[in-house]
Amino acid sequence: MAFLKKSNSCWQLLNFNIGLSGNIFIVKITFLGTGTSQGVPVIACNCNTCISGDEHDKRLRTSVLIETDNVSLVIDAGPDFRQQMLRANVIRLDAILLTHEHKDHIGGLDDVRAFNYKSQDAIDIYSEERVQKVLKKDYSYVFSEYQYPGIPKMRLNPVPEQGFDVKGLNILPVRVFHYRLPVYGFRIGNFGYITDANYIPEESKEKLYGIKYLVINALRKEKHISHFSLREAIDFIREISPKKAYITHISHQMGLHAEVSKELPAGITLAYDGFSFVCDGN
Ligand SMILES: [Zn+2]
Ligand SMILES: [Zn+2]
Repeated sequence: MAFLKKSNSCWQLLNFNIGLSGNIFIVKITFLGTGTSQGVPVIACNCNTCISGDEHDKRLRTSVLIETDNVSLVIDAGPDFRQQMLRANVIRLDAILLTHEHKDHIGGLDDVRAFNYKSQDAIDIYSEERVQKVLKKDYSYVFSEYQYPGIPKMRLNPVPEQGFDVKGLNILPVRVFHYRLPVYGFRIGNFGYITDANYIPEESKEKLYGIKYLVINALRKEKHISHFSLREAIDFIREISPKKAYITHISHQMGLHAEVSKELPAGITLAYDGFSFVCDGN
């Protein structure tokens, strides 16, 4: 199976065998975007990060691509969804998992049309009821009685607390909080993904213990009302103690990728757009 990997500033084809290897289920993760809601650079900002020439400092809105041998899905589809699908050469998408309804996570959904056309089917979207209500309002034309020709086709699916299956891939939702807004993180095998959170209840931590790979949000070094700061994210990582952790949903206020990376403890990496890794079960 062929995958795209970003090396230096260009995307290259890599070959991996993923899926069931012995009894170990192998999942490939690719960061499609690692920026906060405004992306980096921010429009009209000339701070050091926004004017940086380093490709690692160019961050689209937060999203990951998750692939196994027979499943391809993304978590969140923000305003950069189209560009992200093109850049990572995603030719098939089985489902979209939504963490919550903020625009930087749902703003690109109109572009599922391309996948509708290719598969001749609606795209499966997994989100909780509150998020479904927002989708029906924001994309009212998709759900209206009169179906204008060529509109996107979305099949809305619930997120059962005990977990659900996308083509055999088991997904466990993990409740976290974005200030007061309940948001879903997800656990898939030994991989955990949490964005837009600054409070994680004990029962949710219990769902994460034992994972080997963790993606967690950190907006900047200073405290923020609805996101982990870098320090808070590092403290949370230490509690869960995965083998590797990756920081995402990064603001220009975090500073330069190259400089912040040097300050991080072993096993913790600042993610960047195009970075990928394989959860190999080890
Ligand atoms: Zn966000
Ligand atoms: Zn800036």
